[in-house]
Amino acid sequence: MFKFYLQLLPNKITLLLWYTNYYMSFKSLGLIPELLKAVKKQGYTTPSPIQEKAIPRVLERKDVLASAQTGTGKTAGFTLPILQILHQTKKEGRRPVRALVLTPTRELAAQVHKNVVDYSQYLNIKSTVIFGGVNAKPQIKSLKYGVDVVVATPGRLLDLIDQRALSLKRVDILVLDEADRMLDMGFLRDIKKIIALMPKRRQNLLFSATFSKEIKKLAEGILYRPVLVEAAPENSTAEMVEQKAYRVDKANKIEFTIKLISDGNWKQVLIFTRTKHRANRLSEKLVKAGISSAAIHGNKSQGARTKALSGFKSGAVRVLVATDIAARGLDIPLLPHVINFELPNVPEDYVHRIGRTGRAGASGEAISLVDIDEVEYVKGIEKLLGQKLEAEVVEGFEPTAKPSENKPKQNNRNRNKSRNSKPKNSNSGGSNKNRRNNNRRRRR
Ligand code: AMP
Repeated sequence: MFKFYLQLLPNKITLLLWYTNYYMSFKSLGLIPELLKAVKKQGYTTPSPIQEKAIPRVLERKDVLASAQTGTGKTAGFTLPILQILHQTKKEGRRPVRALVLTPTRELAAQVHKNVVDYSQYLNIKSTVIFGGVNAKPQIKSLKYGVDVVVATPGRLLDLIDQRALSLKRVDILVLDEADRMLDMGFLRDIKKIIALMPKRRQNLLFSATFSKEIKKLAEGILYRPVLVEAAPENSTAEMVEQKAYRVDKANKIEFTIKLISDGNWKQVLIFTRTKHRANRLSEKLVKAGISSAAIHGNKSQGARTKALSGFKSGAVRVLVATDIAARGLDIPLLPHVINFELPNVPEDYVHRIGRTGRAGASGEAISLVDIDEVEYVKGIEKLLGQKLEAEVVEGFEPTAKPSENKPKQNNRNRNKSRNSKPKNSNSGGSNKNRRNNNRRRRR
């Protein structure tokens, strides 16, 4: 037991020091003045734990295998040192693509690129973003005069390579961002194709929130003697997140959601559903109830997704209803409320979902509505987190339904099986208030 607390200690202290603004400066990580100025402009005062660990190692030109998800500051963790390396190794004349960041979704690609633009504003470094679902012509045009950094989703990148709009022959640094999600989305073949088009000698950085057998295999095939960086273990997302669960009948979930939002006068709520259809339906019902809302999922055009997201970020839209894949990588700082309208059938997705709140040191609340058919999902989530998710019952919404015959199936995507270690918290019988005590560290 003592050993367990000892293991937990360094990470807790790191997080605590970050949150209390008492840690080392960006300067002490070895960043150049142009980048320090850009970081300052973003309002960052102290590096996050992942930045503190990753930046010096990337600057040393090491391959890095990092356990980190959105919300930990991982993007700056790889972008800042990459920009520094590109700046310091820049040659006169043409600009070949020297750094490639691959992401699973268009939204994440756009966000990472925005970070690249923000951080490179005082450097002579050019970048562009490439993703599908939009006209390729402006992307081809942006590549024409040369860029140093390309942020891309795999499919469109391969299309443009086929069209000879760019070459990867001079790529010196490759980043696989949210590698677990890329594999979940079936990008393995594309990733392999892309890698085959690059020089064999290059620096590789792989970021992933979870480490399945497949991810480890991918990492082994790509990374050369990687440095392991683990700043925010998967379930430490819960550090700053208050988790609540309510037992409620499926038929009453919409009404209950409206009540939560109205009673709490919540201004910015992200709601997760399992299906696109349910996302649309819930969003429509919220609008009918006078709560501005937009749905975001794979069937929506890129334009509609961007509009929904920017409306949500600006505050014009109070509720964003999303499916798991669509929400992946969304950067919505300081999101106060997340509702799991339906629980995910993959326990790891719960962690990804609640990672949308309590970001970068801010606290947040994640609420799960659990109907009778989802009780099994709760068990899977509890097992992963190593803590109980006690469900409350609210007066007027007491559950009466019996389990349905064709209840949804748990989908573990083989991920649980492939974990090297799972949370085995001896405190797991505690209430959700024990979340801070109950976090467990995943070991690779
Ligand atoms: P990421 O995990 O890269 O998606 O970043 C999550 C959020 O944290 C983004 O909104 C960043 O702008 C913000 N962020 C990144 N680094 C820092 C930092 N050192 N201090 C404060 N906020 C940060």
